[in-house]
Amino acid sequence: MRARLRLVRGSFDPRLAWGAACLFAAGVAVVAAYAWGERAGMRDMAQGVEHRLDIYAGGLQSELTRYDYLPGILSLNKDVIALLKDPGNPERIARVNRYLETVNLKAGSSEIYVMNMDGLTLAASNWNRPPSFVGRNFSYRPYFIDAVQGLPGRFYGVGTVSQSPGYYFSYGIYDGGSMLGVAALKVELDKLEKTWGRADEKVAVVDENGVIFLTSVPDWEFKTLRPLSPQTREQLAATRQYHAGSLASLDMTEVRRFPDGTSIVQFAGEAKGGDSGNFLQPSYLLRSRSIPGTQWRLMALSNIAPIHARASNAAIAAALVMGFLAILGLYLQQRRRAIAQSLAASAALQRAHDELERKVAARTQALSDANRHLHIEIAERKRAEEELKATLDELVQAGKMAALGQMAASITHELNQPLAALRTLADNAAVFLQRGRQGDAQENLALIGQLIARMGKITGQLKKFARKSPSLLKPTSISVAISDACFLLEQRLRQEHVELNVAVPEDACALCDGNRLEQVLVNLMSNAIDAMAQTGERRLEVKVAVGEWVSIMVMDSGPGIPPHVMPRLFEPFFTTKEQGSGLGLGLAISAAIMRDFGGSLRAYNRPGGGAAFVLQLRPATIEMEEEADV
Ligand code: ADP
Repeated sequence: MRARLRLVRGSFDPRLAWGAACLFAAGVAVVAAYAWGERAGMRDMAQGVEHRLDIYAGGLQSELTRYDYLPGILSLNKDVIALLKDPGNPERIARVNRYLETVNLKAGSSEIYVMNMDGLTLAASNWNRPPSFVGRNFSYRPYFIDAVQGLPGRFYGVGTVSQSPGYYFSYGIYDGGSMLGVAALKVELDKLEKTWGRADEKVAVVDENGVIFLTSVPDWEFKTLRPLSPQTREQLAATRQYHAGSLASLDMTEVRRFPDGTSIVQFAGEAKGGDSGNFLQPSYLLRSRSIPGTQWRLMALSNIAPIHARASNAAIAAALVMGFLAILGLYLQQRRRAIAQSLAASAALQRAHDELERKVAARTQALSDANRHLHIEIAERKRAEEELKATLDELVQAGKMAALGQMAASITHELNQPLAALRTLADNAAVFLQRGRQGDAQENLALIGQLIARMGKITGQLKKFARKSPSLLKPTSISVAISDACFLLEQRLRQEHVELNVAVPEDACALCDGNRLEQVLVNLMSNAIDAMAQTGERRLEVKVAVGEWVSIMVMDSGPGIPPHVMPRLFEPFFTTKEQGSGLGLGLAISAAIMRDFGGSLRAYNRPGGGAAFVLQLRPATIEMEEEADV
């Protein structure tokens, strides 16, 4: 149960409640507007009807009182009195007939006639117009009965002779205090009906029995508001008040009644969707008033369809206003929500921005820390590189010294030979001078000069080779470096009977340090001579190819590099030579020098036998060399 309650509360949508409240308010407003419109319409209509009732009642009243005096006046006429005293006198009858005719004409009434005490008409204004009243007996008529009893007679009914409805006035005719007869006057009121004609209004005058005898609606004439009782019917038949009138009932029912006397009525006889075009039974606003001096009621009935239309318009207007208010409310709510969402979005954006800034600051801090560390590392790396470079320089120098050590024997031999020759030549020159052989002495001295020059060249090359110099990259002639290396090894090659083949283009030029390239070449060529020590054919080839790289190939006809040696070839202190003849640094230093040049050193065994070492250097041009020299 608790879970269900929670579920119900969880699914509660405030917007739904808001919508339901709006709908309820709209419904209440529409109903209230309709009720207000209806009440206002009723009030206005009732006022209008009341106003017209005043006019209609006034007209009717004045019509009824207009002839009040006439029957009384007749009793003053001597001829009338004389006639009533002598009813059989034709002369008197004729005179009174003419008198009545004249008065009737002047007064504008319908008929005037004089009856004796038995109700027999002795003279009448229509004496000469059929159907004349003369000779007719009206003793059964209430107005005659009233007059005989000394009362002023008032009666509305349908003429039994003329067949036309009219209002009858009657009065007793007296002579010296005794009643001789009755004077009566008939007035037709149908001209009043014509003034009541209004499309949206029905006017009727009903008698005390509810019989409609004057009306603006032709169909309603001599019909009743409600069914008549049998007694009333009998009574009406006796007086022949409405002669042959049907007296059918309209069955008027009161639907509503207001405190001010206004009521809403319907007629059962009126079909739905009748003349009003309304699918509801037509309803009428009814106001009535009694006519003084009679038992009649004057009724005015107005169709209330326009009131419903007006109320419906008010309800529609209210619905439109409520709809507009609902849309306005919805718009304002949406706007408020949009503003709230945009505020939330900008707050989220601000938060994201703050978070980003915090992250950027943290990352910047981390980066600057990393940068600082990097600077420190770079500085350390530079120092290490410098140390490595210095170590390499030292190593290179050590390598040179080692190479020089290996060359020492052959160089000593190379220098000793000219030294011995110099001694002999110098001794011989002295002898030639003693003997006066000037020419021979001069020849010997020239030879001595040549030998000294050669020795100078050897020592010069040695000095140049041994010089400790920092590596300086510049365009360097490859042929010069190769010929210098060959010059240093010339004596060894000769001693070991090695055939040297050099193929190098004169203009081959690469970016390197000449002194160190010479050291690498001396190393490779020395190793080749060492390797060929045990072989019969001893051929050393040095070839140069210029392309994307400047490639120098040093190839021998030795036994090649054994497979177990190949992977360790450039390892420092790796040697296969006996102790004292090799340090195992030559190739390691040579490879380091080549890396320093931005080039490479590789080794492989030639397919036809022997080892091959390939140096690759970045090419340069002679112009560059000249520029560098400048
Ligand atoms: P070292 O000459 O002092 O031994 P190197 O580093 O110059 O030091 O050479 C290392 C080794 O490489 C040599 O001991 C040798 O075994 C091998 N080697 C070098 N050059 C050749 C070659 N041309 N043919 C065969 N083996 C070679």
